Amino acid sequence: MSENSHPHRADVLVLGAGPAGLLAAAACHRRGLDVRVIAPEPAAPWDKQLSAWEQELPGIPSTWVRGRWPGMRVAGTTATTLAAPYLAVDVPTMQADLLESLQGSLVAGHVEGLSHSDDGVAARLRPRLGAPDVIGAAVVVDARGALPGRYWQSAVGLDVSLEAPWTRGPWLMDFRPAFSRQPRPSSAGAREGAMSPTFCYVLPFTERRVLFEETVLMGPESEAVLPQLEARLRARLAGYGVRVSEVHRVERCRIPMDSVARPVPPALRDRVVTFGAAAGFTHPATGYQLGLSWRRAEPLADAIQSTVDGRAAPLSASVWPDEALAAHALYRFGAGAVRSMDSASLVAFFDAFFGLTTEDAVGYLARTLSTNDLRRAMWALFRRAGWRTRLELQRAAVRDPLGALRGVFDNLMEQAA
Ligand SMILES: Cc1cc2nc3c(=O)[nH]c(=O)nc-3n(C[C@H](O)[C@H](O)[C@H](O)COP(=O)(O)OP(=O)(O)OC[C@H]3O[C@@H](n4cnc5c(N)ncnc54)[C@H](O)[C@@H]3O)c2cc1C
Repeated sequence: MSENSHPHRADVLVLGAGPAGLLAAAACHRRGLDVRVIAPEPAAPWDKQLSAWEQELPGIPSTWVRGRWPGMRVAGTTATTLAAPYLAVDVPTMQADLLESLQGSLVAGHVEGLSHSDDGVAARLRPRLGAPDVIGAAVVVDARGALPGRYWQSAVGLDVSLEAPWTRGPWLMDFRPAFSRQPRPSSAGAREGAMSPTFCYVLPFTERRVLFEETVLMGPESEAVLPQLEARLRARLAGYGVRVSEVHRVERCRIPMDSVARPVPPALRDRVVTFGAAAGFTHPATGYQLGLSWRRAEPLADAIQSTVDGRAAPLSASVWPDEALAAHALYRFGAGAVRSMDSASLVAFFDAFFGLTTEDAVGYLARTLSTNDLRRAMWALFRRAGWRTRLELQRAAVRDPLGALRGVFDNLMEQAA
């Protein structure tokens, strides 16, 4: 551990106390590094149901799991099952355990800027009575959450008790309009600015305690979609024939889907690294980021430890290895294609997507495929898609030739080799 030359000098300063910030801080703390976590309210409850495919969260403690299902139902127009385990995180327990492990390291404050200092980085805090104005550290992890984007995933969820047991299982995506009483898909859709078809996400924690969430995958920035989503959700519940006896929690979700990493000034890049949603971890097609934060926290902490010990370690490569960057470009290309689709194309696209092998479909969603397998899965999707979806993918290739070249041309080259 390095020597503290200043009363407010730490080895590692983590900006932000969301899931990414606390996972990174806890990994550093386990290595014996002197960590500080700064956030306006470091113990503010994470008021969201975090979930992920089990393969995204290897080694997650069983006490952090609220629900586990052996497979998830999905439907564009026809229903099928992706037979891979899916987990709902016990968010209060995960947060409480992380906060407890970081007791004494939490600082309430709002970071306004970072600058170079003789022995590392200095973080300037918004002035507050009795609190330090500046905290120095050898390394700063910026986990201040996502920057805004142009395309937003919006959802309204109801965590409810039901009068009768829910017997239809867990659903990742139910696009079937028959159950939602929403307007039938038409080619009007996204291009004309109407809200795309929405899907329902269903997590039955017990027979009668169920989370239903109506989601628009990539919609407009405006929060005006939230009341529409709530109305659709209530219509959906009626369509499912569900009667609610108690509403425990309402979840309103807004995730910028095309958010990029927060910028780090070039002069600070050997000492400052972004992490979590702040590093652009958001999956361009699903909005999830927890799995990447979980899997990258340990490599990041290793790189930080090396830096603190004076051994050169590229911090950003521990967070974004080259292979993952290449895959991310493909995901962004895929998401670009999806967000320009009209309603009918979108549902047809998901029918084709859910027709992939479970390994490919879940690997795509969980980001556990190698880049080569990801390309192969995208090709398989293109081959099995109908003309409408192919046309949309070709249009996307014209809009994003670089992304298409990465995904398609590399694959042709491999096939020719
Ligand atoms: C309702 C909802 C449900 C979601 N469900 C899932 C899911 O099921 N699975 C999944 O993988 N992802 C999900 N996500 C997406 C994503 O995982 C979460 O948004 C997650 O909270 C992002 O974690 P983070 O730590 O990177 O950022 P955040 O959770 O946004 O945390 C940012 C932290 O930075 C602090 N901060 C901000 N500015 C400053 C500043 N200037 N100085 C100091 N601190 C600052 C904030 O106070 C906060 O503590 C969901 C998102 C929402 C909104």
